[in-house]
Amino acid sequence: MKLQSENSLTVVKNISKITNFLNSSIAEDFWTDWKWQVKHSIRDIETFEKKLGIKFPLEEKIKLQKTIEQFPMSITPYYLSLIEAENYSNDPIFRQAFPSIEEMNIDQSDLLDPLGEDKDSPVTGITHRYPDRVLFHISNRCAMYCRHCTRKRKVGDVDFIPTKEEIMKGIEYIRKTHVVRDVLLSGGDPFMLPDEYLDWILTELENIPHVEIIRIGTRTPVVLPFRITDDLIKMLKRHKPIWINTHFNHPREIVPESIEALNKLADSGIPLGNQSVLLAGVNDCTHIMKKLVRKLTQNRVRPYYLYQCDLSIGLSHFRTPVGKGIEIIEGLRGHTSGFAIPTYVVDAPGGGGKIPVMPNYLISWSNNKVILRNFEGVITTYKEPDNYEHNNCALDCDNCNLYLKMESPEEVKLVGIKKLLADSDNCISLTPDGNERIEKRKDE
Ligand SMILES: *Cc1c(COP(=O)(O)O)cnc(C)c1O
Repeated sequence: MKLQSENSLTVVKNISKITNFLNSSIAEDFWTDWKWQVKHSIRDIETFEKKLGIKFPLEEKIKLQKTIEQFPMSITPYYLSLIEAENYSNDPIFRQAFPSIEEMNIDQSDLLDPLGEDKDSPVTGITHRYPDRVLFHISNRCAMYCRHCTRKRKVGDVDFIPTKEEIMKGIEYIRKTHVVRDVLLSGGDPFMLPDEYLDWILTELENIPHVEIIRIGTRTPVVLPFRITDDLIKMLKRHKPIWINTHFNHPREIVPESIEALNKLADSGIPLGNQSVLLAGVNDCTHIMKKLVRKLTQNRVRPYYLYQCDLSIGLSHFRTPVGKGIEIIEGLRGHTSGFAIPTYVVDAPGGGGKIPVMPNYLISWSNNKVILRNFEGVITTYKEPDNYEHNNCALDCDNCNLYLKMESPEEVKLVGIKKLLADSDNCISLTPDGNERIEKRKDE
């Protein structure tokens, strides 16, 4: 029961920090009120210094001031209370919440909209990139402004608050686009919206027959766990099926308050996932990541994605080589529960979507054997079947002995590598647009 004692220690430490924060001992009621937390978020350097009991050198302070003018800061008192003031400069909470003057170093490779989200947007707020699902930005507000935000260009941008009309246009787009069966509510943070407003959006989406699932991406369990109120849970329980993805990056973020929020969500029957971002100086360490995924699974959260840090502006100091991520996956696979291992992805710059990257386990193969290696370096052979009967697929499901009754032709649409592999398609290669060699053939 080591965990128990660790947790109660944190509680004691937190309570003393809370009292510091309020300079009073009647803190609890306010402290656990999420609206109070948002209202008292720390948005300027002086207040931050005061709350943490530190002082930045004047020159640095001027630069920090410039940085937050460009990229605003907002930290909930709760999240700030998790910073260990004694060694703040190396603190993973501090680094995610407090600006670094390095944010002003714009790297040559930095992009304003690295994922092409604005380009793949049929209507304001919707990014439709994958065949069967859309990203729906329904809120521009966040409880805490993550310094590593991929949408940093929009942080604190009041012009971007989606109006009810805009949301309705997004809903209309989903209603008339029958291929959409999965809607990801994101932002900003959807849980920064009032319960009734979110309830309205969820109800509208639920009434669309082809929408099978709704996902919510929120960081509130990490930075504002008090947002997970009983009322919110009651409302969410009326909508099924909802999946929630949260965003823990470091085991230090998993404390009694966030554990309680996760418990409430899990108890209400909502499947929980976690998306972490690989960040230099925060979690670029195999041991930290292993501890994080173990603590997550203990709290019924399944690690879903580990993201390579995007090429957004002002993030160059957070980026690691891709090799670091592969090393982390190498340190997890085989070493801990399989379902605790996230898929490591690079979100393709320019808007190609998430590309999984992982160690190579397939070493070689012949016409009847494949050579594989495991996490320990054991090399093994898998003998392939001699008489595998290939089901030649002619996209004629009604006459196929695999007995799949297709509901819509969309399900068998062939694109990309799937098209190259298909029996029913003659396509033998994919060629980039404007390939010179092919263009020359057309001229001849
Ligand atoms: C991440 C993302 C999705 C969802 O991808 P999954 O792999 O299904 O989780 C959908 N649309 C966009 C634009 C995304 O960035």
